[in-house]
Amino acid sequence: MPARYRGVEMAIFPIRTFGDPVLRTPAEPVDDITNALERLVDDMFETMYDAPGVGLAAPQIGVSKRIFVADIGEGPFVMINPEIVATSGEWAYEEGCLSVPGKWWEIERAGFARARGLDLDGSEVVYEGEELMGRLLQHEVDHLDGMLLIERLPRRIKKQALRELRDEALGLRTAD
Ligand SMILES: [Zn+2]
Repeated sequence: MPARYRGVEMAIFPIRTFGDPVLRTPAEPVDDITNALERLVDDMFETMYDAPGVGLAAPQIGVSKRIFVADIGEGPFVMINPEIVATSGEWAYEEGCLSVPGKWWEIERAGFARARGLDLDGSEVVYEGEELMGRLLQHEVDHLDGMLLIERLPRRIKKQALRELRDEALGLRTAD
């Protein structure tokens, strides 16, 4: 998800955007936490803060593994193999995605979400919250299931959004 603050400038990965098949592919579970994985997580944080964003899933930099990093202003955290284990309520919110740059849609999701996964030590961690935290957890786990936020739009709005994105990709229309 995009943010509106600026992080420290460091080495970054290009962020994959709408149309890239990696974004539609369910990511593979992580079965071993290696040094290479720790390095990947560092790079994901750097890429996320540079964008700037509040969350980034590994497929967004072309790595089809079940990992995301996030910081909604309460400190950075990483989740490996996260699963949504509880949701409740409903909340409509203008949502964006670094992989669909410059676009925002009002999307209804659960207001509260709880996710369980692992940290970089392999220990179980649980993150949960209302509003932005709940939204972030649902958005990032969707990425790991190969789903972009457009899939969460009502049918008619989704068709229109897809048409706009395809026209822009073909150069028939200019992005805002
Ligand atoms: Zn996203």
